[in-house]
Amino acid sequence: MKEFDVNLLDSLSETDRNKVASYIATLQEELQKKNSALEALKASENQYRDFIELAPVGITQVDLNGNIIFSSPTAQSMMGYDGDEYLNKPIFDFIHPEDQEPFAKLVEELIRQKKSLVHGEFRWVRKDGVPLFLKGSGQLKKDEKGNPLYFLISYLDNTKSKETERLLREQGALYQAIIKNAAEGIDIIDVSDFHPVKNPHGKVLIRNERMKTLFQSENELFGTPQEILRITPEVQPNGEPSIVVWERVMKRLYKMWASQEVFRFHHRDDLYFDIEAFEQILDLDGRKLLLRIYHDITERVKQENLIEQQLQQLNKQNKDLQTYIESNMQLENFAYIASHDLRAPIRNIVSFSNLLERRLSDRLEKPEQEFLQFIITSAVNMQALIEDLLTFSRANTNKRKLTKIPFPLLIDELEKELQPIVESKKAIIEWPEESFDIFADRIKLKHLFQNLIENGLKFSLPERQPKIRVTVTHQPEEWLFAVTDNGIGIEEEYLNNIFLIFKRLHSQEEYEGTGIGLALCKKLVEQHEGRIWVKSTSGEGSTFYFTIPKGLKD
Ligand code: ADP
Repeated sequence: MKEFDVNLLDSLSETDRNKVASYIATLQEELQKKNSALEALKASENQYRDFIELAPVGITQVDLNGNIIFSSPTAQSMMGYDGDEYLNKPIFDFIHPEDQEPFAKLVEELIRQKKSLVHGEFRWVRKDGVPLFLKGSGQLKKDEKGNPLYFLISYLDNTKSKETERLLREQGALYQAIIKNAAEGIDIIDVSDFHPVKNPHGKVLIRNERMKTLFQSENELFGTPQEILRITPEVQPNGEPSIVVWERVMKRLYKMWASQEVFRFHHRDDLYFDIEAFEQILDLDGRKLLLRIYHDITERVKQENLIEQQLQQLNKQNKDLQTYIESNMQLENFAYIASHDLRAPIRNIVSFSNLLERRLSDRLEKPEQEFLQFIITSAVNMQALIEDLLTFSRANTNKRKLTKIPFPLLIDELEKELQPIVESKKAIIEWPEESFDIFADRIKLKHLFQNLIENGLKFSLPERQPKIRVTVTHQPEEWLFAVTDNGIGIEEEYLNNIFLIFKRLHSQEEYEGTGIGLALCKKLVEQHEGRIWVKSTSGEGSTFYFTIPKGLKD
């Protein structure tokens, strides 16, 4: 303040000087008052600035043309702007295009004075282009006469909670979809005040379709013994009473908050479910929810039972087979021992009866001679039988020894061995011409061919020259051999059982034999994991087929 010139006062009258002095005093007093008001204003302005700067809300002042004239530091950092770069720009430049229309509507409401304060949430676009969800309020400020001055908006960044909300919504929808489509029966029950006796009430919050089918009910709890027994058999498949199992589950739930148990529900005779039941109590801020996940294992149990039954049946069959094999082995053993031990006495009978015949034949009467002849023939037959039986038993006990056999070599050996009978029968044997190797047991294979060919020659017709043809077909997995003769043939009804031991279709007088040959052939083929069968036309001839698999391994 400018100092007054004191000398000037001296020139004034006393009264005037007093007037001036009092005027000055009043002025000074008013000045003082204004000064302190100004200071108070400054202090409060500083305080508000602090508020604005520290407040977590962003504050923006917009003029009546829609341009930003002030933006608080929080608002600037929210939007990613520094200093003045945000200023004097139209506020609409920062609102997301899709939200501009609803934003404009609120501004209009303020202008039309429909509301003095509006609230809303809009997407704003941050400097780096990221949309922000800003939630806040707006006001139109006016002077004392009611003329609009500017808009004031304050807002909070709601993006995170918006995102959380979206995630929660998404998760909720996801969980619902999972529960709805789950193959397991699922339900959630509020059991906060539940007690099986005192208060058997609870509220089913969720129950999916599968669970409704399993329970045959939308919202029944099955929390009491009476209720549970309504949908369970009295006794579970493992022999335990249902009520005992149920009490165990309850106890476990009360003690450990979780339980797992296999359970059978039984609604009607033809409707039951085997369930693997998983139960858990969830404590959500004091609220107790029972989560039940019931896995339907009816089919699995059925399958398991079936397998169990089949296993038992198989075990029984195995045992039977074992007994059969054992008795068979004993029999075979017996056959072997018997035939082996009978060999010597029979040989003696044959040789001594021959001796007797030679020495006594002149002295014996005709009938006695016939008796003796009868003994000799029987003994010779018995000798043949014993020999064949021995061969048969040996074939059984001798394991196969696979070797690579050049087929032409096998033919050579066979031709040599068969030569006497071929010559005596004036027979013809045709062999396959191709040369190839076969993997088999040489002795057994030779024996097999020998038997079949000898049979072909034996069962020939007197009026027809015996002719045997051996052929081979090379199949992908096996060799198929065929031995064809032009002999007497076999009636169709006997085709199946001629491979049985001792099965003969003719008497000893017609054709000699023991009935062991074809049974031995079958055994030899089976020892090579092959098959044997016959096709025949009575009076025309027969073909014996057999296979030897390729790639046999010892
Ligand atoms: P065996 O030859 O000692 O009688 P097999 O076991 O070899 O005994 O044959 C059983 C029966 O099958 C024979 O008695 C015969 O009736 C019939 N059979 C076998 N081979 C032939 C064949 N090639 N042609 C006609 N019948 C046959």
